[in-house]
Amino acid sequence: MRTIVDRYRVTDGKGFRLEHYDPRDTAGHLVRREDADAMLAHGVERLSQLQEKLYAQDRWSVLCVLQAMDAAGKDGTIKHVMSGVNPQGVQVTCFKAPSEEALSHDFLWRAVRALPARGHIGIFNRSHYEDVLVVRVHPELLETQHLPPELVGKNIWSERLESIAAFERYLARQGVVVLKFFLHLSKEEQRRRFLARLEEKDKYWKFSANDLSERAFWDRYRHAYQEAIAATASRHAPWFVVPADNKWFTRLVVVAAIIDALEALDLRVPRPTAAQLEALEAARVALEAEATGA
Ligand code: AMP
Ligand code: MG
Repeated sequence: MRTIVDRYRVTDGKGFRLEHYDPRDTAGHLVRREDADAMLAHGVERLSQLQEKLYAQDRWSVLCVLQAMDAAGKDGTIKHVMSGVNPQGVQVTCFKAPSEEALSHDFLWRAVRALPARGHIGIFNRSHYEDVLVVRVHPELLETQHLPPELVGKNIWSERLESIAAFERYLARQGVVVLKFFLHLSKEEQRRRFLARLEEKDKYWKFSANDLSERAFWDRYRHAYQEAIAATASRHAPWFVVPADNKWFTRLVVVAAIIDALEALDLRVPRPTAAQLEALEAARVALEAEATGA
C-alpha cells in the first residue's frame, strides 16, 4: 500500500505540475480492481486499530483536508474510509459558503474552530482552502469579507497561501498531523457523473444548478489548485493528488495515506505508572471481594 501512496504524495511544491497527474491512473500492476474491495476492507480495519491507539495515547491529532471539484467523490470517500472508525474519535466538518459571522472574521477562523482535539481525527470536507480557490475564481466574493480595502492588493492570493502554509506549520509543531487530499477528477468524468445525477431520481438531490456554473470555470479552478498545491505542499503538511475518475481507487489511496501517516507516529497505548498499577490492583481486589460476598 505504501508504494501507491508514494506516487501521489507532494511534499515540495517546487516544480509541481498538476498536468503530470492523470485522473484515470490506477497505479498499473500495483493494484488490481478485483482485489480493491478486500484491500479497502483491510485498510478500514487497520485504520480503526490505529485510531484506537491515537485516542488512547491522546497526544497527536490528525487533520484530513479534502478538496475537489464537484462530483469528485468527497462524501463517498469520507463515508467509506471512516466506516470502521469509532464515531467518538472523528469529527467531519463541511465548509459551505460562509455565514455572516464567519465573514466578520479572518478567513482561518472557521478552520481553527473546527480543529480536532488531541487523540482525534478531524475531516474537513472542503476547508480554509476555499478562500484561495472559489474566492480566487470569483474575486468579487472578497467584497463580502469586510476587509480593509488597503489590505486587498494584487498579492492577496500569494499572501493568503503564505498564511495557510504558516498556519499548517504551526499545527504540525503542535502535534497535528496535516494531510491534504485533492481528489483529482477529469472534466469528462465530471460530465458523466452530473449526467448520472440527472438520469436517476434518487440522485437528483445531489445536483445543484450551481455545480454546472462552477464547471464553466474549470480552467480557472485548475489554475487555483495548481497554485495552492505548489505553495503549500511540504513535508509536515503534504498534499496527495489522488486520481478520482475511479472511485474504488480514490478510496484506497486515501485510506492508505492516512494509515501510512499514523504508522509513522509509532502510536502506543500509554503504559500505566507504578501508582496506577497499584490502584488497578486495589480495584480488582475490591471487585472480587464483592462477588464472593466477603
Ligand atoms: P458543497 O460542498 O457541494 O455542498 O458546496 C459548498 C459550496 O460552498 C461550494 O460551492 C463551495 O465553493 C462554497 N464555499 C465553501 N467555502 C467558501 C468560501 N469561503 N467562500 C465562498 N464559498 C465557499
Ligand atoms: Mg456540490
